[in-house]
Parts: sequence; C-alpha cells; structure tokens
Amino acid sequence: MTRSGLRAAVVVGGGPSGLTAAVALASAGLQVALVARAAPADNRTSALLASSVAALETLGVWDDCRAHAAPLATLRIVDATQRLWRAPEARFEAHEIGLDAFAWNVENRHLVAALDARAAALPNLHRILEDAAAVESGPASVTVRTTGGATIEAQLAVGADGRNSLCRNAAGIAVDHRDYPQVALTYNVSHSRPHRNISTEFHTEHGPFTTVPLPGDRSGIVCVVSPSDAGHLQSLSGEPLDRELERRSHSILGKITAEPGHGTFPLAMETARRFAAERIALVGEAAHRFPPIGAQGLNLGLRDAAAIAEIAADYRDDPGQPDATDRYDRERRADVMSRSIGVDLMNRSLLSDLLPMQGLRGIGLHLLNTVGPLRRAMMREGVMPRAAQPRLMRGEAL
Ligand SMILES: Cc1cc2nc3c(=O)[nH]c(=O)nc-3n(C[C@H](O)[C@H](O)[C@H](O)COP(=O)(O)OP(=O)(O)OC[C@H]3O[C@@H](n4cnc5c(N)ncnc54)[C@H](O)[C@@H]3O)c2cc1C
Repeated sequence: MTRSGLRAAVVVGGGPSGLTAAVALASAGLQVALVARAAPADNRTSALLASSVAALETLGVWDDCRAHAAPLATLRIVDATQRLWRAPEARFEAHEIGLDAFAWNVENRHLVAALDARAAALPNLHRILEDAAAVESGPASVTVRTTGGATIEAQLAVGADGRNSLCRNAAGIAVDHRDYPQVALTYNVSHSRPHRNISTEFHTEHGPFTTVPLPGDRSGIVCVVSPSDAGHLQSLSGEPLDRELERRSHSILGKITAEPGHGTFPLAMETARRFAAERIALVGEAAHRFPPIGAQGLNLGLRDAAAIAEIAADYRDDPGQPDATDRYDRERRADVMSRSIGVDLMNRSLLSDLLPMQGLRGIGLHLLNTVGPLRRAMMREGVMPRAAQPRLMRGEAL
C-alpha cells in the first residue's frame, strides 16, 4: 500500500465534471490528486453555454475543443403532440440578446479528451487510474483508498463520481429522487440538408425529440421516449433506423444516416439534500441529475467545478474546513434548485394529460414568443444565470 503526503484536494471521478474540477483546482495552484479510470465511451454531445466555454478557455481546454464544436444560434420548440391544446412554435435567436450563439455543441468524447490532455499537463495534478474503493472522512482530512490499494489523504474531497456516488454516501448525504417514465436514446447522425446552426426540440407526449448541430452536416439527436418505444427504437438499425429518425425529425434535416452505436439513459431527477458535508463537496451528477431538457446538466456540473475551485483557492490553508464547504453548499443550492424546478415543470407539463396543465404550457410558450422583454430576460437568464457566476465562468483565472 502506498501512502502519499497530505494534499489540498482529491477528486474522485473522471467524467467531464470531475476532470474540470481537478484541472480548475490545480490551475489555482493547489496540490491535487485525481482518482479516476479513463471515462467510459459516451456518444452524447453537450451544448455548452457561453459561460462554460469561457471557463474552459480560461483553463486552457477549449483550444482542443473549438474545431469540434458547432454554435447554436437559434433554438426552436415545436409542439409535435396530437393534443387539443397545442402550443405555438417558439423561436429564440441568440442575436436578440447580443450573442453569436446560445451555446456550442461538442461531442463528449472530444471534451473529455481535451480535459484529459490538460490534466496530464499540470505538474501539481497527480492522476491515479483506478476507482475509489472507500472514502472516509475525519476531523482534519479525508482518506480515499483505491481499488489498487493506494491511499490518498487530502483536506477536501470532491465527489464527481456520478449518480451512485461513493463520496455522497461517505458524507452521509441523502438524495431526493424522482423516476420519470422516460428513456433518452442518443444518436449522432449525418444528414443531407444543412442544420444552419439551429437546434430544434419537437415536444411529443412522451418527451422531446431534439436535434443539436455538430460541425458540418452532422447533428446529435436526443430522443426521449416511453420505455416500450425505446425497446422498439433500439431494435432498429441501418435503413429502418435512418427512416425512423428522419420521420421523427419531420425531415427538417433531409435524409438521415445514423452513425454506429447509441446511448440509453433512463430518466430521473435527483438532487442531493446537501452539496457538501464532512470535508466532501459534490459536483456534477453526484449532486444533481436532470432530464435532458434545456441543456442544463453539464453546464451546472461545470459551474459546480468552477465554484469549488474558487472557494478552495479562497480557503487554501484548509479548503475542506466547514466555512468553505458551507459556502459551497449555499452558493450551489440556489442555482441547482431553480434549474431543477424549471426542468421538472417543463417535463411534467409535457407528460401531463390534464388539459389545464397543457393550456398553461401553451400560454407560457405563447407569452415567451410574443412578449419581447420577457423572452429576452428568459434567454439571458438561461445563458448567463445572474445568481451563479463563479470567476472562471466570467473568464477570470483563479
Ligand atoms: C441524453 C442526455 C443528453 C445530455 N445533454 C446535455 C447537454 O446538451 N448539455 C448539458 O449541459 N448537459 C447535458 N446532459 C447532462 C450531462 O451529460 C451530465 O450532466 C454529465 O455527463 C455529468 O457528468 P459527470 O462528470 O458529473 O458524471 P459522469 O459522466 O457520470 O462521470 C462520473 C464518473 O465517475 C466515475 N466513477 C464512478 N464511481 C467511481 C469511483 N468509485 N471511483 C472513481 N471514479 C468513479 C465513472 O466511471 C464516471 O467516469 C445530458 C444528459 C443526458 C442523459
């Protein structure tokens, strides 16, 4: 068993949130250990808001992503339900709030590769390519034992170990959990018509079918369906799958050719009751899990990473002390709670068979479409949340 000296922070988990947290903490000059195997293959794409891109630029990561990212200049929401009360189409243009794009969409594999490369280049970031087997919190430090038998001791542990977080259990933090009767299937496709940097959400009775631009004539597709429909779609490949995806996208992208492989994600909403306790701070899906509506999940995860790095730098003598973890809990709560309430309402209004709920949703979208100041305020809040802009998200180095 190896035993290293006391570090400022140990990050557990090498998905995009954990890698960003590790790179941000190390960029702030702290001694950091990262306990993470290579992230498993992930065919998803992430629409990253301007503030997330600013943070990745500041951390020296975005240069490797830029060529793989496509701007989302226009967002369309189309009511594709067969219901009596159908909402009018809502259309949002980034130039209305003075931006070139609401977000840049990049395949997770390119984002993770860029983060991996940056992590490897930082001399004060030591990566152990193993899983954490045990996490134990004490009065002055947290101890992480890896599956290979190494022991790491740090003042702060950052739990970025996803939905079944070992770190969250070690901190004794409970989660509020709600399952949805929905599964998201993800595909990457090429198509015969250009996407013109438009992302379209077709809202169906079972959830949204969303096309998100990638560079060239390619797009990511997130198809939220009932579990039985998911079974049907998963049984398709080749021409029948291409035709089905073209039908569900109302042929807006012309002829579709699906690339090999797809992802399957049963949907749920999960929120940790606290975001930090016992010298352990939770980031990303260890802290919150959302249905893929409005591209919130990873953008929140990157804000978590930026916030914990900023707070750790402010309390660099002991980044795991209660004042630091209490501040992290306070700062992240408002941001995460407001997004989760919004996404949950949006998703449940789609699934609801109640006419009043469908009516309210239609009126809401109609108001957004027709009342310019309301639409612009909503767009600004979606892209640049006022309540939660850690320094890195404003492009300031720590
Ligand atoms: C269909 C879909 C589409 C989405 N689209 C978007 C989007 O457009 N924009 C957006 O912002 N968000 C989006 N999201 C959300 C986003 O994908 C997630 O928020 C993000 O992937 C979470 O990253 P993470 O690093 O927190 O978790 P994960 O990616 O789950 O990473 C956790 C990591 O921890 C590792 N791990 C687990 N246990 C241990 C252990 N004991 N020791 C060490 N490591 C461990 C795992 O192997 C994994 O690598 C989408 C989600 C879905 C389902």
